[in-house]
Amino acid sequence: MEKSDITERIKSLQEKKGFLILAHNYQNSEVQSVADFVGDSLELCKEAQKSPYSNIVLCGVSFMAETAAILNPDKNVYLPEKNAHCTMAQMLTPDAVLALKKNHPSAQVMCYVNSSAEVKSVSDIICTSSNAILLARKIESEEIIFVPDRNLGTYVSKSFPEIKVWLAPAFCYVHHEIYPEDVIKTKEKFPASLILSHPECQDPVLQISDFVGSTSAILKYVSASAEKEFIVCTEEGMLERMRIVHPHKNIISPLMPRLCYGMKKTSLQSVLSVLENPSDKISVPYPIAEKAFIPIKRMMDLSV
Ligand code: SF4
Repeated sequence: MEKSDITERIKSLQEKKGFLILAHNYQNSEVQSVADFVGDSLELCKEAQKSPYSNIVLCGVSFMAETAAILNPDKNVYLPEKNAHCTMAQMLTPDAVLALKKNHPSAQVMCYVNSSAEVKSVSDIICTSSNAILLARKIESEEIIFVPDRNLGTYVSKSFPEIKVWLAPAFCYVHHEIYPEDVIKTKEKFPASLILSHPECQDPVLQISDFVGSTSAILKYVSASAEKEFIVCTEEGMLERMRIVHPHKNIISPLMPRLCYGMKKTSLQSVLSVLENPSDKISVPYPIAEKAFIPIKRMMDLSV
């Protein structure tokens, strides 16, 4: 089937069956083009909650669909590709978190949303890259165990030198492997450009950046800026979106495009397949869903 036919069929089935299609910023541009809403993790959670539709197709990775299912137990959440996983979320087990808690009993566990439901269920508060700083301030703890992303945790700890932050060893390979040398070489080619980075990048990259923020914050920054050239240190899907939104601005990859293979598993065909045959809705076992809901809800309440 031609891509245009697949797109038409998706739209028609979506309307007929009453589905909301959500896509993360890292999805490829074809998948983003059929979504009702494209955004970062926190924005997708909020859209899923306020949607009147009871069926949601979430084009992203499994932890996102799990989070949407935990927040919306009365809705059916479908992930088009069952094996679309976040490598960083898979790096950390709940036992590793419990071991950190045992060693640092006074610390609150702040868990990045890019984590399994099991890890969330043993955490005190969930955060995203857009609200981690705000929430670290609001929970008023002298010690924080930040999991799973050690780079985002380092970013939080540098913002609060008075708080002791304990880190887990996990990281996102997509961002971690953007090296400062790559960024500097790119900047030499485009000396007028600004460097915008996601806080999942390593600290030396953040140190040479003009702006650090979540994917949506980076997009807002570019939209508001009068500048024309930006080196954007994050996953390429975000850069594709920015090039569509701002065709007259030069959105530059740091030496080469960085791809998340979990995110890129979803295709137009997989979105169509789940609409044609919506089986295997995402379900998180009851005791885990119940426990994970508490720190997610705490995030939602404190991040308004
Ligand atoms: S870009 Fe990194 S953190 Fe995001 S889903 Fe992919 S592996 Fe996980």
